[in-house]
Amino acid sequence: SLKGRTALVTGSTSGIGLAIALAFAREGARVMLNGFGTPEAIAAARSEVASIQGGEAPYSDADLSNPAAVRQMCADAAAAMGQVDILVNNAGIQFVSPVEEFPEEKWDAILAINLSSNFHAIKAVLPTMRERGWGRIINVASAHGLVASPFKSAYVTAKHGVVGLTKTVAIEVARTPITCNAICPGFVRTPLAEAQVAPLAQKHGVSEEVALTDLLLEKQPSKRWVEVEEVAGMAVYLCGPNSGAVNGAALSVDGGWTAS
Ligand code: NAD
Repeated sequence: SLKGRTALVTGSTSGIGLAIALAFAREGARVMLNGFGTPEAIAAARSEVASIQGGEAPYSDADLSNPAAVRQMCADAAAAMGQVDILVNNAGIQFVSPVEEFPEEKWDAILAINLSSNFHAIKAVLPTMRERGWGRIINVASAHGLVASPFKSAYVTAKHGVVGLTKTVAIEVARTPITCNAICPGFVRTPLAEAQVAPLAQKHGVSEEVALTDLLLEKQPSKRWVEVEEVAGMAVYLCGPNSGAVNGAALSVDGGWTAS
């Protein structure tokens, strides 16, 4: 149980981040949300979490491409919940293009949101974790933190960077009751990812089933989506009892992708 713990989960208005926030709340933690979306989507995420944890679900609209906003979000989380016991750096974006044509502003945005925001948030929360003598830092990287695919230069670079940052922080905190780990999901069923199936099937003139298993999930030997709950389960484990020796790991939740 995570009763009495507080968690800040970035990019938690949808997808994997929301699943992690809900799983933490179910374990009894207090959770602060962050991320973009329509006012309705944000209100829905907040009320879903609030219905589990009770009271209001604190929320930050911080744009994580801005280091000052990341620091402000961490200060707001500490003010709203007393401290941040668990930090989950999950927010991320993607852009696909051959490297020669990759737009420079997309490169900068992906590096800022997917990688640098993790550094700024860790730097902001770590002093209090050290003072209180407990902490969990979880960075949601990707199978693309371990292996590459073409046309994803910024994303693959940022996610490899996240794995490197994870290892470095882990050994800096290794003698304390704080851990820092990365979760490396494969293809996860989210609305954005699922929306790629139908156009792919059309483009290649195959059924949606074939488009999913042979094209989209070409590299995922399980030939099925990873579910957001399966990623959230790993995050809950990393915060639970007997998890303290798992430190600096890049934990694959990818249906065998990086094993093959
Ligand atoms: P998603 O698009 O559903 O969620 C991304 C979240 O990040 C949203 O809440 C969004 O509002 C937020 N966000 C985006 N830009 C932001 C910014 N500048 N400031 C603050 N918040 C911002 O995506 P998801 O699939 O749930 O992805 C979550 C994480 O998991 C990402 O880091 C992604 O790279 C990683 N991941 C996803 C998959 C997958 O197949 N879906 C696989 C591996 C890794």
